[in-house]
Amino acid sequence: MKANKKMSGMAAVGIGLVCLLGSQLALSGSAANTMALIKSDPVKLRNFLFNFPKGGDLHNHLTGAIYAESYIAWAAEDGKCWEEETLSIVPGPCDEKTVRSLSELYPGGRNADRLGVDPIVDALSTRNYPLREVSGHNQFFATFARFSLASVGRRGEMLAEVAYRNSRQNIPYLELMQSLGMLEAAELAVASADLDKPYGERIDHAKVDAIVADVSRQVDEMEKKKIELLGCEEAASAMGCEVEMRFLAQVLRTWSLEEVYVQTLLAFKLIESDPRFVGLNFVAPEDHPVALRDYRRHMAFIQEIGSHYEEQRSGITLHAGELALGLVPPENLGWHIQEAIEVAGARRIGHGVDINHTPDLYPLLKKMASEEIMVEINLTSNDVILGVKAPYHPLPLYLENNVPVALSTDDEGVSRIDLTHEYQRAVSTFDLSYAMLRSLSRNALQYNFLPGDRLFLDTYKGKRIQACNSDTPGAETMSTACSEFLGTSEKAALQWQLEERFAAFEASFE
Ligand SMILES: [Zn+2]
Repeated sequence: MKANKKMSGMAAVGIGLVCLLGSQLALSGSAANTMALIKSDPVKLRNFLFNFPKGGDLHNHLTGAIYAESYIAWAAEDGKCWEEETLSIVPGPCDEKTVRSLSELYPGGRNADRLGVDPIVDALSTRNYPLREVSGHNQFFATFARFSLASVGRRGEMLAEVAYRNSRQNIPYLELMQSLGMLEAAELAVASADLDKPYGERIDHAKVDAIVADVSRQVDEMEKKKIELLGCEEAASAMGCEVEMRFLAQVLRTWSLEEVYVQTLLAFKLIESDPRFVGLNFVAPEDHPVALRDYRRHMAFIQEIGSHYEEQRSGITLHAGELALGLVPPENLGWHIQEAIEVAGARRIGHGVDINHTPDLYPLLKKMASEEIMVEINLTSNDVILGVKAPYHPLPLYLENNVPVALSTDDEGVSRIDLTHEYQRAVSTFDLSYAMLRSLSRNALQYNFLPGDRLFLDTYKGKRIQACNSDTPGAETMSTACSEFLGTSEKAALQWQLEERFAAFEASFE
């Protein structure tokens, strides 16, 4: 517990995985039978899914993953203030007339009072939003600017928080989206980009390379801080230390064309030069007027710049189709997903909610299935932001058409959820079987952007590649062929580890 004490603003519940699995012994039979029995009991189902091995979270924005309580605690420690008028964390020193000192409110300051903290937590998240006169969409997107300042200087703490939270839930892998360097890239674009010039002359590549080097240095510092906070040097088995984390460079799609262009270039360069960056994504509201207006140009940017980064193109995932009828004019629906795939070369799609507006729907689904374009499904986010939930959610449509999908959180801190919550929502809403759930969990590793060949030929059938086909996860020995194969593939090695977690989880029910 020594490590946990160092993690300010984080829940300090240090229960080991072994203990959690031990609690399953109260139920007997098999994991699949148990799940079938408790599926309609949300109390037991939460506990079952909390311990169930979940391969990873591939759609997780780092700043949105942090709970408001952490931001408030860090801001208090850093002498930052709360501005009532804008509902935002602002720099100190605090002026009594316009802003409040957060250190007086949290945690346990002189005038600490829960009622003072509560409305701040509400303003920094979608908690209690139905009680206010604001849509889920507007409340959700408003939070980021409000807590943004609290993240400054605290990125190591942020990594530690998500590692710890996901470790507790039996999740071995995270692909975290973050925008480090994007502001600098945008400033460079405003100062000197000229998109009318030939490719190599539009921006000074050496200056973009300098931003890449600076971002890598920042990530070094974040990781160092994370290791210190989790106590990984004292005990490698400390909670959170084992969670593998990689990053996706996120480009802000609501900014000017020049800014988006240089950010996209920066994203490709980050993937090329820093192995911790495994992909890129375009973020910010897809329904924003600028995002809608420039969507085609953006896809063309990715295609064009990507043609100079052939190897890095396998790491393209794009928010596409995070739209709904009524939110935007109907003419904006039903083509973003297709363009993301066919023009930008996306290997994964974030949300994909408006797929049913695609005129040639079934050919597109067929293409996504055959080319294994995976969809990152964010059920709570889609409900809160878009107002789309079952029976209007397309998850069953994707499953029926063999399009690979995985469950993810989007912004677990803002939405006050976790990945277990999303698994529970999927099981309860769509009556998923244990076998299907295991496939969705496997998909989060099968379709991540780690280098190396995949372990599975087919995650839904559980069919592994030849080299590891006759091996038993969790067994004391492993065939030479499988061992050699896992040694060549970072991705498959982690997939095998997930299979071992399944073996341990399922054995606890026998
Ligand atoms: Zn997202």
